[in-house]
Amino acid sequence: MFETIVALATPPMKSALAIIRVSGDDCFDVVSKCFSKDIRKIKERTLLVGYIENKKTNQKIDEVVLAIYKGPKSFTGEDLVEIICHGSSLISQQILDILIENGARMATNGEYSSRAFIHQKMDLVQAEAINDIINATTKEAKDISMFSLQGKTSGLLTPVRTRLADIISLIEVNIDYPEYEDIEQANKQQIITMCDEINQMIDKLINDGEKARIIKDGIKVAIVGKPNVGKSSLLNALVGEEKAIVTDIAGTTRDIVEGEINLNGIVLHLLDTAGIRDSSDKVESIGVNRAKKTIEEAEIVIVVLDGSQKLEKEDNEILKLTEKFNRIIIYNKSDKIKEKSDSNIYISALTKDIDPLVKEIYRLVGLDEQSFKQPALANTRQIGLLKQARASLQKAKEDAANDLPVELISVNLMDAFNAILDILGERNKADLSKEIFSRFCVGK
Ligand code: GDP
Repeated sequence: MFETIVALATPPMKSALAIIRVSGDDCFDVVSKCFSKDIRKIKERTLLVGYIENKKTNQKIDEVVLAIYKGPKSFTGEDLVEIICHGSSLISQQILDILIENGARMATNGEYSSRAFIHQKMDLVQAEAINDIINATTKEAKDISMFSLQGKTSGLLTPVRTRLADIISLIEVNIDYPEYEDIEQANKQQIITMCDEINQMIDKLINDGEKARIIKDGIKVAIVGKPNVGKSSLLNALVGEEKAIVTDIAGTTRDIVEGEINLNGIVLHLLDTAGIRDSSDKVESIGVNRAKKTIEEAEIVIVVLDGSQKLEKEDNEILKLTEKFNRIIIYNKSDKIKEKSDSNIYISALTKDIDPLVKEIYRLVGLDEQSFKQPALANTRQIGLLKQARASLQKAKEDAANDLPVELISVNLMDAFNAILDILGERNKADLSKEIFSRFCVGK
């Protein structure tokens, strides 16, 4: 029994139109009770013009258009009605009230998508993509999520799933039917080879997923350097607007100034930091401590040096402090530098000549043109489960190498298989025995 749920699908503000969605077993009953026509016998996928009304008081609430979808051919897979009304918060509230009075209840967050998932209109990866599409801030991030919505991302798991089912069925048949002589014996080397082969596929999925995650979520970048090397100028050059205050009095960028830029499709969450140095100035030293914290938070640290001057003690301290981090060392003020070394990256924040830095950022995150054009399992949950599957396969491989009984090896292989099904949210739905044993006709 699926209760009939209602919610406003558009923002609660003044606009030309608003859409209210009603879905559930009694959807057509509920709507018929407050609509000028009975929609229970309407053909599927119909548009109807009429009035939402309070039949007890005989009051018309609004003239609306209903889009009627009969389950399972609807977004949720249930009977579903979209009420297109005038875009006033008052009207939508009145419509919601009258629907609730007639038996519906307010939907909870994500309940429409969750029903679509329950009714197998989509898998979990597709359901997650809906949220990602809505939240995408760049075209590139949206495109990646579109692959997932279309089911292309879920399809990446098919070969992994098939190979895992192959190896599990081989082992299980050996365990369950040892008396059949015509069954292929699962040997140690075969198990090891298959585990390696599957893990190679998983490695690629994880690698592509990490890159796509950067395209989707962006990357946190800290800009550090002693005062006056040009950090704020660089931030401005990157952001393209005067966000940080630029001054030639050392140590005036006291606070962290944040900026966000879309660098050819990757969002950089920039964290400008106060100049790192030991300071007796109280206000400044707080900024310095924060800068150190920012380094730990950042995924890439840009160390800015003044290339027009000799390195000082403070520069060396910063280089030491950032040694263990994923960093890019750049020599700024290239417009004032005469002799340049091939191994260094030079930029001029002042003249906005920062291309070498942009290229290095791209190189460091490992993105290439292809990364933007292919589906990938890109959220933390999906990548986490892939890693879980990889670890279980690794364990199975070690057990096989150590000549442990196939029953034990099979447990780890099953864990890997379940982790893959969990990505799609199919563990409870899939009939595993059928999927695995469909490959064999034992005892026929
Ligand atoms: P911060 O303290 O590291 O944030 O440094 P600022 O961005 O405030 O810059 C300090 C001084 O260096 C300012 O006078 C900037 O105009 C100057 N500056 C920054 N970048 C460059 C550059 O690429 N070339 C030259 N010639 N001057 C620069």
